[in-house]
Amino acid sequence: MPAVGAVAVASSQESSVRGMLKTPHRYPGRLVVVEGIDGSGKSTQLDLLAKWLAAAGQRVFVTEWNSSMLVKAATKAGKKKNLLTPMTFSLLHATDFADRLTYKIVPPLKAGMTVLADRYAYTAFARDVARGVDRAWVRDLYEFAVRPDLVLYFRVPIEVSIERLMARRVKLKFYEAGMDMRWSADPVESFRLFQRRVLAEYETLVGEFGLHVVDAVGSISDQQRTVRALVSEQLEANRGE
Ligand code: ADP
Repeated sequence: MPAVGAVAVASSQESSVRGMLKTPHRYPGRLVVVEGIDGSGKSTQLDLLAKWLAAAGQRVFVTEWNSSMLVKAATKAGKKKNLLTPMTFSLLHATDFADRLTYKIVPPLKAGMTVLADRYAYTAFARDVARGVDRAWVRDLYEFAVRPDLVLYFRVPIEVSIERLMARRVKLKFYEAGMDMRWSADPVESFRLFQRRVLAEYETLVGEFGLHVVDAVGSISDQQRTVRALVSEQLEANRGE
């Protein structure tokens, strides 16, 4: 059984000058994040993990990227008219994230729950930088973010993710394919060009923020076995801190 939920308060050994995102949090709950390019299968894995933890008696809360009502209308309008520059897009996402963190992530963490986040600040670090936003600037923007207890990065080749996405729906979404960058008029080629840059950024994040890499090419069940083992192991290890 996974050892998550109301566990001991984590100790803070790292300097706060490096920001919250590099400093263990002090909430009784646990924060687990999944990251990866679109089509990596991370939502499928998170969903299975949530069900497994809930069946084991854990109090689980699931939260998604870009889900706050606060900036929904502005983002939608901007996207519709393709009015957003990469920096405006980045600021809107950071606002959305701040709202989600305050109202959806921190309260369950305070209540000792296990929060499962589908995408977190690392998505902004990968996507915004892929769109040309300054690396240091976007990291500073998210400095207030609570450090997760575990980040699982689902590493997958672009062709595999394209295959999965195309099997599911007729066409790739405009922003998912990075069409706003106008690198190619062909959605699949644009997806390749954009996601290649996103993948490269994720690789830099692995070392910088200690992301746990999951080979996302394998079957859903094999990956889920790895995910459960990592979650159990990691959260058990954090219990003693
Ligand atoms: P993401 O959240 O990373 O965009 P999803 O979990 O939504 O990815 O999965 C994208 C598509 O790929 C879905 O149709 C899903 O059923 C399928 N899928 C997920 N994992 C696998 C896998 N390991 N092998 C084959 N197809 C998968």
